[in-house]
Amino acid sequence: MINLDIVTLRIGFGVMAVVLVLLFYFSTYRSTRSPYSRWWCVALLFFLAGSLLFLFDGTVHQIWANPLGNALLVTGAVSAWCAARSLRASPLPVPVFILAPLITLVTGVLDSPATNLWAGGAVFLGGMSIAFGLAAVELWRLSPEYSKARIPMALIAAVVAAYYFLRMLFFLLVGPDHAVFMAYFGSAVTTMFMMVTVVVVSYSMAALSSEQQTRALQQVANADGLTGLLNRAAFMDQAGRELARKRPGGWSGALVLADLDHFKKINDSHGHAAGDAALRIFAAACRDSVRSSDLVGRYGGEEFILLLPDVDGVRAFLIVDTINQRLALAGSRMPMPTASYGIALHRNGRNSLEDLIDRADTALYKAKAQGRNRTVVGSRE
Ligand code: GH3
Ligand code: MG
Ligand code: MG
Repeated sequence: MINLDIVTLRIGFGVMAVVLVLLFYFSTYRSTRSPYSRWWCVALLFFLAGSLLFLFDGTVHQIWANPLGNALLVTGAVSAWCAARSLRASPLPVPVFILAPLITLVTGVLDSPATNLWAGGAVFLGGMSIAFGLAAVELWRLSPEYSKARIPMALIAAVVAAYYFLRMLFFLLVGPDHAVFMAYFGSAVTTMFMMVTVVVVSYSMAALSSEQQTRALQQVANADGLTGLLNRAAFMDQAGRELARKRPGGWSGALVLADLDHFKKINDSHGHAAGDAALRIFAAACRDSVRSSDLVGRYGGEEFILLLPDVDGVRAFLIVDTINQRLALAGSRMPMPTASYGIALHRNGRNSLEDLIDRADTALYKAKAQGRNRTVVGSRE
């Protein structure tokens, strides 16, 4: 077996961690300010500090440095868990954050750390395993749309958790001086293992951070500033892609155009701010009345557009009804106009977005001409 010098390895790990912290701080954290890149910087610093303290092993300082080193490493693992949790915006309660390192520290201190290199070893190894295991679960449970980078991160966290679990198991079964423990779970192997882990995680975190930032920017670019619905360009883009998607039998569904009735009067008699509020309420009524997979956009000033895949005429009428009920409810609290709707239905086969909008627009025009506050279904193509 190759005999690796643990002091050299630890110094190597320390240098690598410093470089990673600096790179990560200046390239990812400074540009994205994302909570998870901040947490990962924190985790790296704890890993760095913890492993550097182990350099005091075998000196008079071992008595405090060893238990503290264990506690700092566990804090690093808990910080990695926090990083994972921040992706779902669920912060860890402070007592939980402090508890695991504290238990590790106390058990280390009580286990004659002056002479015992493995003081509190089982608790330390167990704590590392649990914290990385929780991080793995957290990453795995992220929504699939979130980012592909979550998969290698979840896997590596699970591997680290399993590795520390096995270390703990062998520590308890055969003890740290056994040949098997030294060969597979000793400090030298672990330090190399952690080097690989830290590099892989940092890389994935960087990828995830920038992907997140891109997503956030894209969302801002696609949204209508007043209502938060898709703006016209984003709606046209996404609806065009939805219609072009290959599926057996072609596309079926409904396109609805809605226009608020005599909206100018709201502005004129209650002010522009009341008009804006009415637009926001109508937008929310539309969004709340459809499925999350439907597309809702602001087509123009007080015109809205909805693309409802797999919805037939009856369902489309029900949805319009639901929107109107929500409007009426809001109308009891503030000036709220009625709305007119034009619906274009399509069943099976190809169709262009422009044609659907044309038909819905003609229907909407009829609804206005017939006296407003009503819904007209366009003629079939
Ligand atoms: P109709 O029933 O025929 O649709 O009448 P209308 O008054 O709703 O239609 P018209 O097109 O004459 O007026 C639309 C008004 O919507 C004019 C414009 O000032 C107002 N508007 C457009 N965008 C906004 C906005 O963002 N905020 C507010 N408050 N008003 C807006
Ligand atoms: Mg109008
Ligand atoms: Mg209009």
